[in-house]
Amino acid sequence: MRLAKRYREMRPPEMVRMFQTIERMEGVLNLSIGEPDFDTEPDIVEAAAKAGYDGFTHYPPLQGFLDVREAVCRYWERHHGLRADPGEVYMAVGGIQVAHLAFAALLDPGDEVLLVEPYFPPYVSQVEANGGVPVAVPTREENGFAPTVEDLKRAVTSRTRGLLLNSPCNPSGRVVPRRQLEEIAEFVGEHDLFVLSDEIYESLVFHGEHVCLATFPGMRERTVTMAGLSKSHCMTGWRLGYGIAPEALARTMTVIASSQTYGLNSLAQKAALYALDTQDAKVLERRAIFAERVASVAERLNAMKGVRCPPADGAFYLFPNISGSGLSSEDFSWRLLEEAKVATVPGSPFGRSGKGYIRIACTQSQDTLMRAMDAIEKFIDTL
Ligand code: PLP
Repeated sequence: MRLAKRYREMRPPEMVRMFQTIERMEGVLNLSIGEPDFDTEPDIVEAAAKAGYDGFTHYPPLQGFLDVREAVCRYWERHHGLRADPGEVYMAVGGIQVAHLAFAALLDPGDEVLLVEPYFPPYVSQVEANGGVPVAVPTREENGFAPTVEDLKRAVTSRTRGLLLNSPCNPSGRVVPRRQLEEIAEFVGEHDLFVLSDEIYESLVFHGEHVCLATFPGMRERTVTMAGLSKSHCMTGWRLGYGIAPEALARTMTVIASSQTYGLNSLAQKAALYALDTQDAKVLERRAIFAERVASVAERLNAMKGVRCPPADGAFYLFPNISGSGLSSEDFSWRLLEEAKVATVPGSPFGRSGKGYIRIACTQSQDTLMRAMDAIEKFIDTL
């Protein structure tokens, strides 16, 4: 069958090629996975089953069940001081759909979107698919990969319409500090931009605090706060995301999605309602585990020849600089996989600022992580 012209030249992204290769291999110590290794808590699964027996087996309301959207509002007020109305919440098929819908609703052809590097790679194609132009904003390790206003000023033009910010960040583990966010908020106001604030790792901050951008004066009306239960509640497979946006935008996103997904799985939504209200202690327990893993892996990496690993303040990733090995990030990751059977992700798909880095996900047991560190150390010794 003949493919559409726009997809004929499409090659799988570097990360997808890496994941497909790993699937075909055996005995890999897999540090490439961006999801918690913990299963969903059984009482959350039971809440979904109960909802099924209670008859929640029909099409859901397109924007999401009201009681679920109210639970999202309670969670954000309790944890991050954001006061939102359920009318401003859109329940999506993963956080990833929130971004797609927001770009669809907000971009006209040729509108530029600033993507702060290192960025989550799907955002590049999402901006392009919605007629926009992604503009990368390089950041530097010396600044903890947090964007300064100077970085943003260099990239902004009269065509810039939006900014994508991700804190805590995948892949760098960066948490943008409050003062820097304040300056960014001011910049965004001056240039009349919208912000897609990807706060999906909000529950996983080890040092400092998570600051919700939409809580700054004047930011509510220009921000889409994007999050979900994939990382906080170990519910990646349930595809539970949501956006908190000005009400008219949430309504438009709902209309756009009505011809795509027609709402979010009813049972998953009811599980989210239960999870958002009952799991705060578990979330904290897992955060402590990730903090410990990230710290011990960073310590091991920093002791390796030619490796420099900046600390991560949040999420569950480390982004070590491996340029001292003499290999590019692609060569390092691919050779590490083939020769030492340790899977990581090269830094280059996350933008130019990722060159010379690799991403390590601390989403395995401490024992597996330490075995992987032994293997990386040995691999480096052979170079
Ligand atoms: N944003 C970032 C930075 C991510 O790392 C991910 C998943 O890895 C997502 C968004 C999408 O998450 P989900 O669609 O599972 O909610």
